[in-house]
Amino acid sequence: MRILLVEDDPMIGDAIQAALKDASYTADWVKDGLTALAAIDAQHYDLMLLDLGLPGRDGHGVLRTLRGDGNPVPLIIITARDSVGERIRGLDAGADDYVLKPFDMSELLARMRAVLRRKGGSAVPLLSNGVVSLDPVAKQAATAADPAIALSNREFALLQALLIRPGAILSRADLEDRIYGWGFEVESNAVEFLIHALRRKLGSDAIKNVRGMGWMVSKGV
Ligand code: CA
Repeated sequence: MRILLVEDDPMIGDAIQAALKDASYTADWVKDGLTALAAIDAQHYDLMLLDLGLPGRDGHGVLRTLRGDGNPVPLIIITARDSVGERIRGLDAGADDYVLKPFDMSELLARMRAVLRRKGGSAVPLLSNGVVSLDPVAKQAATAADPAIALSNREFALLQALLIRPGAILSRADLEDRIYGWGFEVESNAVEFLIHALRRKLGSDAIKNVRGMGWMVSKGV
């Protein structure tokens, strides 16, 4: 999953980006509001973490512009502004949650999972198509043959991208977008390599190739 982090404080931004990476998210980090709006115009993001105090366009302005444009990206405000008025203003403007600094990174990650579940319309933290399931907390996959399959961060990110929409075909570019961040030189066969590794762990039928178009997991039963 690809996250847009909007944070102008270098230490906080560094810490959040590292924690997101550890949790298998792909994170792009921008430091002001206008760059954030340009990034979200150019790229699909699964979730946005938005600081309020930003140079140039502040977080409230970014949020207003996004929702005014009808952009539904799941969004969590991360800020030190703790007044009730600020919180109400953020939530009323279309933020999905509001996390106060300083926060524990594990709580931020849990809130992100909760927002993503709500936006996905599911209260169940497992992703599954009936054949393969994925536990985003344990970062393990499960099949009928093996209930606890350890995955690398990139294997996890790829399988998660497919299992969010069983039956949807994702192209190589779609998958690269969800697995790799900005400025990463992706080897031309990197996606095939990950698919191959996942099939060895999950069974050869778990991920289907649709010739010339990409890959998918079946809609299941
Ligand atoms: Ca700030």
